[in-house]
Amino acid sequence: MAEAGSFAEKVKQQADIVRVVGEYVRLKKTGKDFSGLCPFHQEKTPSFTVSPVKQIFYCFGCGKGGDVYNFVMDMEKCEFPEAVKVVAEKCGIAIPRQKERSPEERKENQQRSVLVEMHREAQTFFVKQLEGTPEGKAARAYLEDRGLDKEAIARFGIGYAPSGGDALLRQLKPKYNERLLVDSGLLSRDQSAGRLFDRFRRRITFPIANESGKIVAFGARALGDDMPKYLNSPETPIYSKSNVLYHMDRAKDALRQQDFAILVEGYMDAIAVARAGISNVVASCGTSLAEPQIKLLGRFTRRVIVNYDPDTAGQAATERSLSLLLEHDFEVRVLALPAVGDKKADPDLFIRERGKDEYLKLLKEAPPYVDYLIARARQMDLTTGEGKQRALNFLLPYIQKIPNGIMRSEWATRIAQQLRIDEPLLRSALSKAAKERRRVITTRPEMVGRAAKPVERRLIRMLAEAQGFRQELAKHLQDAHLYHGLETEKIFAAMVIAGLSGQPLQATEVGAMLEERDRRLLFEILFEEANEPTWEEAMSCIEALQNRQAEQQLADVQRSIEANPAAPELRGLLEKKQELMRRLAAAR
Ligand SMILES: [Zn+2]
Repeated sequence: MAEAGSFAEKVKQQADIVRVVGEYVRLKKTGKDFSGLCPFHQEKTPSFTVSPVKQIFYCFGCGKGGDVYNFVMDMEKCEFPEAVKVVAEKCGIAIPRQKERSPEERKENQQRSVLVEMHREAQTFFVKQLEGTPEGKAARAYLEDRGLDKEAIARFGIGYAPSGGDALLRQLKPKYNERLLVDSGLLSRDQSAGRLFDRFRRRITFPIANESGKIVAFGARALGDDMPKYLNSPETPIYSKSNVLYHMDRAKDALRQQDFAILVEGYMDAIAVARAGISNVVASCGTSLAEPQIKLLGRFTRRVIVNYDPDTAGQAATERSLSLLLEHDFEVRVLALPAVGDKKADPDLFIRERGKDEYLKLLKEAPPYVDYLIARARQMDLTTGEGKQRALNFLLPYIQKIPNGIMRSEWATRIAQQLRIDEPLLRSALSKAAKERRRVITTRPEMVGRAAKPVERRLIRMLAEAQGFRQELAKHLQDAHLYHGLETEKIFAAMVIAGLSGQPLQATEVGAMLEERDRRLLFEILFEEANEPTWEEAMSCIEALQNRQAEQQLADVQRSIEANPAAPELRGLLEKKQELMRRLAAAR
């Protein structure tokens, strides 16, 4: 696929598969390789392996494997050219100007970059409004009152959208056509007159950046009592709220290092937590988490502490998000902050009133989600059978989503104890739920587990990486017909062809020539523990193959002699037998 000398080939040489895969999968170094939980199938223990030396990946569980492009194609569900682009971008390699596939595509790309540019201009405009206008001064006072000083305002790019209603419009109108102005979501159209006006008016603005740090939308909080209190950008060609997590662009490193995320509801909360020195915080910016957001988060960590508002909406959002996180196999804890005075506390208020140390302390003690749920269930009236049933109905869907059977069972016991529910009753409800769950679990692909003799495995491995003598070894194997009739014959054939070319091995391309079972076996062999290959070892492996071949031939000859002792070629057969026996004796 990546032809020699092509751009794809160049990118592949410069790209580091560990870094690229590492953006999607949490990898741990294990020996020479890296391993992690496979993103292509559900698993509890890592069988997904990446080799920095060979620049390939392989999953011993589901058998997916290949080079960096195969990985990105599978992960992003895209075609080869797109995968090359993605890898190039991730590695900061400039993509040569090329013809886009269609005029529409070119137009869309252009439109997207113009929209990003407009957002940058809007951002500059909002910041200036906050800094230098009388109206902005009032907004600054409000922010100060909320504990946001100059440093925080600058750090999070907070701005102000004035009340006039056309200030931003006047700024942008000379440069962009009306269609773009509307598509940007920064402006709205008056229903009756068709007149354009600023979408955000008399509001504090918070830039919302995508994962790579480009501003693609704004969140805006009313300064006075205007409704709604929070107003966000609408869905646009560059912004979809279910794909973006606020603060993600700045949280990435911390998420990787700390290996957990704090999930809050709004940007004010995220800002408050980040300012307390806890950078691994992201906000869903909506009432509850959406699936693409979870996938995005899952690329960095699978452990989450949910810290939503304690009001009813927040509770509902917490519970919906819990459900989804559990389904995606996240380890979830819930931080429900205690009231401050008589006020229910969101993270922002809590940190302002009680300080970051207190917040950190509670964060560390945040209970697993099941404890949170049990506590919620216990608030229900448990004195009647009906009440207990309601509590059980509330809990069951969550328990049902726990993928691990042992955990599920442990929680069942705890719930039975804490809610004083009859345990057998609870278990029968659970097993009914589990049956429903089993139906959606896909069966695991057949494991390889096929025996290939160590000598064959070793030779195949040497054909892959013996820099000094690959070509020679390939020639040797081919000339002597040494791999014919072996179970690994097809793998040998493909590797010998690749070896004879003298080019470095492209495991993926060799794999593509093979049937599924052989391809998997090849990748398994490539990931085996192995020493540096030497010519001596290669020769002794070849010798072993020769002996095996001789034994086979000897058996064949013996069978022929016994089958027809009177044949005219008996003499020839006997001579052959003698020679083979001599050879085998010499080898021993
Ligand atoms: Zn897998």
